[in-house]
Amino acid sequence: MSNEAVKLYRIASHCSEYTPVSDAQGYGISWLNSSVDDDDSRCDLCIYWREGKCSIYKSRTKFH
Ligand code: SF4
Repeated sequence: MSNEAVKLYRIASHCSEYTPVSDAQGYGISWLNSSVDDDDSRCDLCIYWREGKCSIYKSRTKFH
């Protein structure tokens, strides 16, 4: 996994605003979901991501 991908996972897993695109579209909450999905939060699946323009993401990566 690239450093960039690790960062996307790490930030999203600590982000209180994380909202997966699939949830926003109404597909996220389903008995079909496996528990594996809980580990799948990452910024580029979030509705606030906007190709890296998320202000929370930017503030968390500013110092790195
Ligand atoms: S894209 Fe922004 S709002 Fe979404 S999980 Fe990442 S930091 Fe949080």
